[in-house]
Amino acid sequence: MSTMKAIQLVSPGQWPQLREVPVPRPGPGQVLLKVTAAGLCHSDIAVMESYAEELGYPLPMTLGHECAGIVIDAGEGVKHLVTMGEPVLVYGPWGCGRCRQCAEGYENYCYNAAERNITPPGLGHDGGAAEYMLVDRARYLVPIQDLDPVKAVPLTDAALTPYHALQHSRSKLDANSYAVVFGIGGLGHTAIQLIKHLTPAQVIALDVSERHLELARQVGADYAVKSDDAAVELVQDLTHGLGAEVVFDFVGVQASIDLGAKLTKVRGDWNIVGIGGGKATVGFGAVPYECNVFAPYWGTRGDLYDVVALARRGVIEIHTEDYRLDQGVDAYKRLHSGEVIGRAVLRP
Ligand code: NAD
Ligand code: ZN
Repeated sequence: MSTMKAIQLVSPGQWPQLREVPVPRPGPGQVLLKVTAAGLCHSDIAVMESYAEELGYPLPMTLGHECAGIVIDAGEGVKHLVTMGEPVLVYGPWGCGRCRQCAEGYENYCYNAAERNITPPGLGHDGGAAEYMLVDRARYLVPIQDLDPVKAVPLTDAALTPYHALQHSRSKLDANSYAVVFGIGGLGHTAIQLIKHLTPAQVIALDVSERHLELARQVGADYAVKSDDAAVELVQDLTHGLGAEVVFDFVGVQASIDLGAKLTKVRGDWNIVGIGGGKATVGFGAVPYECNVFAPYWGTRGDLYDVVALARRGVIEIHTEDYRLDQGVDAYKRLHSGEVIGRAVLRP
């Protein structure tokens, strides 16, 4: 039996480990990829710290829900649907494929996934931080042609998730309006580029770290502001005392949520995307009048095609830090301590 290297979470609350595990073989309907790149998301840190235990993920589990690879084998019944040697991205939020949500491409909100234990790679079963990975259905493969897999792999989450959030808030972002973006990490620095390209709004970026604010300026933010109590007055000044039409929170800790409540405009949209454990208080007087509060999860299959198209046109350029698979544990430690600028990507 041949083996491969994989970054696996072995027990919750511990750093993952580089382990030698069997190369998986595709069963009926499955596709085997030789992994070319795997992006590291801050959600993996949440998985390591608690989710694996809370959600009962079977361990050991290979991490990595941002995956790119080359099709090298396929199981029964699916060979005619894939092209050997094709470079692809993997759409991550897998669904049943049959319910009304899945029918529209909203597999991220599949009605049956939880009940039938259909989980994304790296978030419930083995993911892409390995030399090879299995994909359960051919429909999850999105061709990338000649895009560099290291640059393209964050499209599957760091671009897909903000793009999806932007879809429902886009109409509010006209030439007079402002978008506030909290957390200029993997998702946030991509969000700024998407907002600047797809809307005429001005972008106000907030982060606790000067190095991340520098990245915000670099990728097109009109203003970059330290995320602390003084930010309320600064942002209110910038927005003529009214707040931002749309707030995107890619942190989701109590501090950013408390600020977000104060920075969203009357009839504005407040997108809480980060899963930092903070909770918003919603009710009369607690949020601006007629404000919409969203807690979106990932994006649709169609959205992934859209962000790939934008990347092909050079509209989104994801800043990456490139690591070998055997540097994966150290890369996660850097991500945990806030040192990563852009997206850390493993290259098996
Ligand atoms: P990241 O580590 O790359 O970036 C996080 C950024 O937030 C860093 O720049 C950090 O300096 C900054 N930050 C920390 N505290 C802050 C504060 N109080 N105010 C402003 N900025 C602050 O993380 P990422 O991979 O981009 O993920 C961002 C968040 O989104 C995480 O919570 C992640 O779990 C979550 N996420 C959610 C979804 C979803 O579908 N809802 C999908 C992917 C990621
Ligand atoms: Zn993620």
